[in-house]
Amino acid sequence: MRTLDIEQDNCNNDKDCGPPCPRCARPMEVRQHSRIREKQRRAAYYYAKWYRCNNTSCRTREVMPPEFIVWNDNPAAQQLRRLKAIYEQLGIEWRGS
Ligand SMILES: [Zn+2]
Repeated sequence: MRTLDIEQDNCNNDKDCGPPCPRCARPMEVRQHSRIREKQRRAAYYYAKWYRCNNTSCRTREVMPPEFIVWNDNPAAQQLRRLKAIYEQLGIEWRGS
């Protein structure tokens, strides 16, 4: 079993620590919108929260887990959801767009 070398400075102490980074295994910072603005509402969806790796020597910056997607109720969202359903029928993993 691999032990994780956890360095506290990767996620700010005033913020919640997320899961380990998929690349460097340091805990990621949990980010979320301070409030939902027009930009988020116009999009098909936005992320309720996401993770950010603050390790400057790691190439992973932000991790956007699909389970945090919040769908808006607008034409862009309806179109994208249809596309997502087609992807799923074809067995292709949909990773957002
Ligand atoms: Zn990382």
